[in-house]
Amino acid sequence: MAEYKRPISESEFKKNFKLKKPLMNDTEAFYESSRCLFCYDAPCIEACPTGIDIPLFIKQIQTKNAEGAAKTIYDSNWLGNACGTICPTGVLCEGACVYNHQDVQPLQIGRLQNYATTSVIDADKKLYEAGTANGLKIAVIGAGPAGIACACEARVLGYEVDIFEAKENPTGLTVHGIAPYKITNEEVLKEFSFLQNQLGFTVHYNTAITTTAQIKDLEANYDAIFIGVGLGKTSKLGIEGENINGVIGAVEFIEELRMKHHLVQVPPKVIVLGGGNTAMDAASEAARMGANHVTLAYRRSKEEKGAYEFEYDLAKSAGVKGIFNCSPVEIIGKNNVEGVKFIKTQKFEGKLHPVQGTEFIVACDLVIKATGQAKQGDLYQLIDGLEIDNKTRITINSESFQTSNPKYFAGGDAINGGAEVVNAAYDGKMAAQGIHQWLTK
Ligand SMILES: Cc1cc2nc3c(=O)[nH]c(=O)nc-3n(C[C@H](O)[C@H](O)[C@H](O)COP(=O)(O)OP(=O)(O)OC[C@H]3O[C@@H](n4cnc5c(N)ncnc54)[C@H](O)[C@@H]3O)c2cc1C
Ligand code: SF4
Repeated sequence: MAEYKRPISESEFKKNFKLKKPLMNDTEAFYESSRCLFCYDAPCIEACPTGIDIPLFIKQIQTKNAEGAAKTIYDSNWLGNACGTICPTGVLCEGACVYNHQDVQPLQIGRLQNYATTSVIDADKKLYEAGTANGLKIAVIGAGPAGIACACEARVLGYEVDIFEAKENPTGLTVHGIAPYKITNEEVLKEFSFLQNQLGFTVHYNTAITTTAQIKDLEANYDAIFIGVGLGKTSKLGIEGENINGVIGAVEFIEELRMKHHLVQVPPKVIVLGGGNTAMDAASEAARMGANHVTLAYRRSKEEKGAYEFEYDLAKSAGVKGIFNCSPVEIIGKNNVEGVKFIKTQKFEGKLHPVQGTEFIVACDLVIKATGQAKQGDLYQLIDGLEIDNKTRITINSESFQTSNPKYFAGGDAINGGAEVVNAAYDGKMAAQGIHQWLTK
């Protein structure tokens, strides 16, 4: 039974995708900030991958200094506004809040962070300016969170920065991939413009770096190059029927939804394949687009799924039904998809095995594959001496973020294989510092 009616206008889309963490007003922020215990050795700082001084910015909010709070946040994390609403705070900063030990609701750190940063973005407060030009140039490949963070930090250090971006919009998966009930396109792009206006890096849109000639050109014209290209398209499943009409990758499905909103039509019966956070998002989003039956199918057990529990709960609350221990063997349909044939699985001696004779078919009109994203190996091959690991992740020095080719630095999903925006923001910032150390040593 559908929980959501199909949205046919932007206002209906917004209603179905109502923000999970709405912006706090001044009163809410004041009262919430007054709950902070300002712990010595605050565990929330440790739990934040960018190490924001959380008690300090909360104190600043409490003393009505939202601008100071925003500066504290941005000094550690260039994507401070986006992270406030999209970080999985329950397993990061808020998960570490001491209130959890007392059965008291942890402090809403993410929303407070979003409150402070939104106030400076809306007022277009100038918090930063580019450092004195040092005459050196950095090329950044990819305008995702990692690339943006690297560009901002490098500008403060006095470098000229050119970002080369394959798409027509900046911010990577933040605008193309993250669920619309976590953040809106407007919010993401507003933070980006806020940063670009004060720091003045250049972005060359619709400029994918894909050839050796382009790479040689970058090497000849820039003193250092940062790779922040994230991951690629959804990986192939390698089963029969995968190319039938009505089979789509989760990343591609979500990107279309983020760009076209209510103009995307989701049919009544949807099967999402996968057990990670992307699968939960795709299933939740299909349900919010008015699909009557959304089935999430994962080949392992419920306990083994990679997704955070809260993401699964969110999908269930949108009407998604999970089926576990079943693996897709064939996608069925003549011209359009009609269903998926599964086989039951069980674990034996630590390995997953199909159980012969247990095939069954679930009917559907759309299959969304959320079974992982391919890596950007084709690009990496173009770069001399660039070492990648056996999972096609770029190998870096964990302190400097320098790769095995000293002119190149890297960060974000390209080095970790897929994590969170906050990790990419940290990597980009640290890589700019690494570049600075290398070029000025
Ligand atoms: C469906 C989905 C939901 C997610 N939800 C969350 C969430 O709720 N919270 C969270 O914190 N994280 C979430 N993530 C993870 C998060 O989006 C990523 O970890 C983060 O965006 C990685 O940043 P990045 O800069 O490394 O890569 P990306 O964001 O992928 O950006 C890479 C950029 O490089 C560009 N590019 C790629 N190749 C080239 C090339 N050859 N030349 C030029 N440009 C190129 C791309 O167009 C893109 O703009 C989600 C991911 C997915 C897939
Ligand atoms: S960046 Fe994310 S993890 Fe760090 S304090 Fe902010 S919301 Fe928490």
